[in-house]
Amino acid sequence: MVALDKEPVCDLCGGHESHPWRVAYDPGGKRYTLRRCASCGLVFLYPQPSSDGVVDYYSHGKGTTFHPLARAPQIRSLRDQVRTEIDRQIYFSGRIPASTSYLVRGLGRIAAGYFRYSRRYQTPPAGVGRALDIGCGDGKYLAWLRDVWEWEVHGVELSVAATRLAREELNLDIRIGTLEEARFPAEYFDLVTMWDALEHISSPTQELREVARILKPGGTLRVVVPNIASWPARIFKGAWAPLLPPEHLFHFSTHTLRAYLEKTGFQVERMASVGSPHVARSISRIGIANAERISKATIRLTWAMWPVDALLNLMHIRGSLFASARRNL
Ligand SMILES: [Zn+2]
Repeated sequence: MVALDKEPVCDLCGGHESHPWRVAYDPGGKRYTLRRCASCGLVFLYPQPSSDGVVDYYSHGKGTTFHPLARAPQIRSLRDQVRTEIDRQIYFSGRIPASTSYLVRGLGRIAAGYFRYSRRYQTPPAGVGRALDIGCGDGKYLAWLRDVWEWEVHGVELSVAATRLAREELNLDIRIGTLEEARFPAEYFDLVTMWDALEHISSPTQELREVARILKPGGTLRVVVPNIASWPARIFKGAWAPLLPPEHLFHFSTHTLRAYLEKTGFQVERMASVGSPHVARSISRIGIANAERISKATIRLTWAMWPVDALLNLMHIRGSLFASARRNL
């Protein structure tokens, strides 16, 4: 009798041979191994945490992101004031009063200009239609799509905590759970977006097939994922912040992301390097294996390094991969 094959099966190509490739640590110092498929080069976390554990993690762990509507009454630090001003200018004009401080308004305007520039890829296709954002978090992107571009918007999110404000303050339609659990009708959406979401999902093949089912023929899928082949990823190796075990289960390059999209019924129209190189957060993670937790000092260092990330981004040294694809007719 043949011994059971303990090698994991590649979600992209079905190959059975993979090799340990990087060792990475979570903020608590727990060790994880990333493997690389010998056939197609897909990088994945193995073993994956159980799906119950993942849902639990999102439900109780890092669910709460910074939200200006939540924080507005208690904002004290200059940093939070500027963040609120950036959000106000990009997403929430009319919902949050402008800052009375010239310094905050000025800094907010400069930073908002940079974010608008560096996130141009988030602009929807021409015309209006029905959009779905998978992993929509606090709903800021959906609110912008609805209020500025007048699209009909829906969201899916695993974290209850993250979506409370999106549902209660922004009146967005957000389904809690996975995409499959939301059971959208076939050929329902004109646009599906996945900003930093695909790397969290236990089978990108299944997820993308479901996206293809609910998109209209010719509909647009837009994806951003960390780019495992980017220079920052190569330089920082196991300390590169977007490796982020155990939350990030898969890591893509232009080659593997394109192969995924073509395999699941899409035609790739455009790929580009986008986003922060995450140099600041990666520096704070060097030596994390020995650290009990990230110290407050390194978190402050991360914030001080933010302009470095912005400058590298403007120099086209970027950490993420953007793809725009059409569902096959
Ligand atoms: Zn493979």
